[in-house]
Amino acid sequence: MTDLIQFERLGLFNAKVPRYTSYPTAPHFDAGVNAEQFTRWLNAIPKGDAISLYVHIPFCRRLCWFCACRTQGVKTDTPLETYVRRLETEIDMVFRNLPQGVTLSQLHWGGGTPTILGPRLITRLAKKITDRFPFSPNYTFSVEIDPNEIDKQRIAALAAAGMNRASLGIQDFDDKIQSAIGRPQGFNETKYAFELLRDYGVGSINADLVYGLPHQTKHRLTQTVQKLTSLSPDRIALYGYAHVPWMARRQKLIDSDALPSSFERLELFNCASDLLIWDGYRTIGIDHFALSHDEMSNAQKNRTLKRNFQGYSVDPSNVLIGLGASSISHFPNGYAQNASATSQYAAAIDQHEFATIRGHVFNHDDRVRAKIINSLMCNFDVQTADVINNFAINRDALYSEFVEINRKFEYLLVVNERGLFLSRQKYVH
Ligand code: SF4
Repeated sequence: MTDLIQFERLGLFNAKVPRYTSYPTAPHFDAGVNAEQFTRWLNAIPKGDAISLYVHIPFCRRLCWFCACRTQGVKTDTPLETYVRRLETEIDMVFRNLPQGVTLSQLHWGGGTPTILGPRLITRLAKKITDRFPFSPNYTFSVEIDPNEIDKQRIAALAAAGMNRASLGIQDFDDKIQSAIGRPQGFNETKYAFELLRDYGVGSINADLVYGLPHQTKHRLTQTVQKLTSLSPDRIALYGYAHVPWMARRQKLIDSDALPSSFERLELFNCASDLLIWDGYRTIGIDHFALSHDEMSNAQKNRTLKRNFQGYSVDPSNVLIGLGASSISHFPNGYAQNASATSQYAAAIDQHEFATIRGHVFNHDDRVRAKIINSLMCNFDVQTADVINNFAINRDALYSEFVEINRKFEYLLVVNERGLFLSRQKYVH
């Protein structure tokens, strides 16, 4: 209980913060990174390198109230066709600026709702990508799937294009919670999506749950977790709901009085976490769970896990190129982000110019901080040797920093000559 009171006092389960994705975070990007810089970073990728590609599809048939994603509702397919045409142009532009022989170790389609694309557009987009950038051996092609927006034809098209991992948005199966967040979704539709994916040989399925939703109780969340584990997803992401209506205006439709307190959020997380562990899942980082056969479990054991914009990742590449409106690219020397408004993105691409409008060039301090944050989020520790072997940092100065951090966190951590360790967190089993 003492720990829980401390966690709450330190704001560690505060609902009013967006989810951490990168260091520095996107709100700190500036106009210092433009299309010319993006082009130089593309040109610097070594010949024959394996890269990651993220393709953003910023359209949905429905706009769920809880969702802070930048996306727009569409009723017809006309904007989709036009958007895919622009993505094809952008793919050609990236291809022309890369050295020869670049392959794809990881391809991810996210959104929005990537499966809003019909089978014809799915096949067309996938063909364009893989014609330009063939898959590496042991590639991963993952797609975010809305179980309400999928059918046999679309799964067949994605599987034929090489999709071998799917991520299904679930949030919570409870009717009252679904009404409160504006996202109706029957269990049977989700079950059908799981069955179709497995029928088409998709070997790895991830499911996203959210804790901290309005009217969510431990009882309701237990029922949701039990329903989900009956489908045996290979991975589960258990994200905290971030109530930020000043950033995501749709969230104003959510009754903030129905949200759990920060203490209840912590209890909800622990409840779901315990159930998943009893069901054979291993904890991965701060908010993921995986069955022991999943490569994420091995990556955590081997300390090769990474945290990126999509959550935890085992991708070995150090280059992620984002395509589409608002997507973010990650290079060894910095971040570059495309224009967020689809119209601004479209205007640039139609001129055959990259749509990069902002980003961040890493300095020494950024690299150290990013490495430390990544290590904390993936390994729950920061090893002194790992930092001083990679950066020009004095051992004593680093130790003093760790002592100061520990003081700020009311001595919840362990600090010694080997590093900084999250000693009392209950996640690692
Ligand atoms: S949760 Fe998914 S379907 Fe709903 S608005 Fe967000 S991206 Fe669109």
